[in-house]
Amino acid sequence: MNRADWDAVRKDFPILQRQVHGKPLVYLDSANTAQKPEAVIQAVDEFYRQHNANVSRAVHQLGSEATEAYEGARKRLAAFVNVHPNDLVLTSGTTQAINLVAYSFALPRLQAGDVILVTRMEHHANLVPWQLIAERTGAQVVPVDITASGEIDLSSLRVQLKAPAKLLAITHVSNVLGTVNPVAEICALARKAGITTIVDGSQAVPHMPVDIAALGCDFYAFTGHKVCGPTGTGALWAKREHWQSMPPFFGGGEMIREVRFEKTTFNDPPHKFEAGTPNIAGFVGLGAAVQYLSTLGMYAIAEREQQLLAYASQRLESVDGLRIIGTANNKAAVISFLIDGVHAHDLATLLDLEGIAVRSGHHCAHPLMQYLGVPATCRASLAFYNTTDEVDALIEGIARVRRMLG
Ligand code: PLP
Repeated sequence: MNRADWDAVRKDFPILQRQVHGKPLVYLDSANTAQKPEAVIQAVDEFYRQHNANVSRAVHQLGSEATEAYEGARKRLAAFVNVHPNDLVLTSGTTQAINLVAYSFALPRLQAGDVILVTRMEHHANLVPWQLIAERTGAQVVPVDITASGEIDLSSLRVQLKAPAKLLAITHVSNVLGTVNPVAEICALARKAGITTIVDGSQAVPHMPVDIAALGCDFYAFTGHKVCGPTGTGALWAKREHWQSMPPFFGGGEMIREVRFEKTTFNDPPHKFEAGTPNIAGFVGLGAAVQYLSTLGMYAIAEREQQLLAYASQRLESVDGLRIIGTANNKAAVISFLIDGVHAHDLATLLDLEGIAVRSGHHCAHPLMQYLGVPATCRASLAFYNTTDEVDALIEGIARVRRMLG
């Protein structure tokens, strides 16, 4: 895609036209949540204006339109990541998805002495549920080391991939370091050792073509709001044999076949794991989001973001006293950095006054920060709708902040 096309794409995002503190918004926080294109906003709006009803409960026209829209979104989402829709459970996000694996799959299977391997670069969403399960079962959570550049240390992981390890929790892309992990290779090693793999795809699905079927994992979780969809949407894919063997996590409406006081029988997956009224309009919006991204093309998006990443990395590296945290060979457009003598929170607060939105803090990865020996980093995360001019604005903003702080 050429530059003119990306300029046109940017106009699809109404929020990017607004000003913040009297300055044009420069949104560099897409790893936190992505902005929404007009197509998504309209799909949600139209659902509420024209089709709103509950799913699977009503025989009336609106009920069947809502059900069709919701199931249509599941099909679109499944096609987007190359899996069968029946193997894709819709969740409120990655957090719920991983908790579902933890409580429904891991809890009944683990026992004292078992090991759950968790990489040092996991978001709390792919660590805390494992700690909770470990507490209940007597299993132990053991960290998987990373190298100085922020890649998984494959040689030590190879040693860990054997009994008593039972599970491996690994992120596809780090939300702090930007590292793209070789998950297909790692899942193949784990599979050989009989270890179940749970991949957190939250930061991968928005930025590159993801073919879950080709990764060879057991579970793959991702979240809708980072894929330009509404908040409160996400999905969990699992191998069919796992869905069939797992008991439901939540009980209630929608997930049952027949309920008697003596005994309840359950619906088939994926519905067995979707108790209660889902975020129907949200999923309709998510369906529109993945359709929008597919029209742009995930290869084109990945290429565009790699160009922005290269430009931003090179410009940031030239800033005196600035250190990029996470220098893996294969990275997504996430750049964490520290500047000598400037606290990450002060920098982010002062950049905000310039209209520039970056994130500062621990990025829901406390153990990674402890391992790196830093309390917080500043993080600029780019999406295809960003521009090199915005990267320039960040560099100029940093220079102004430093002058301000003397
Ligand atoms: N995993 C990673 C790598 C993330 O970046 C995030 C969100 O920041 C999550 C999990 C949690 O996603 P959600 O809050 O949508 O469940």
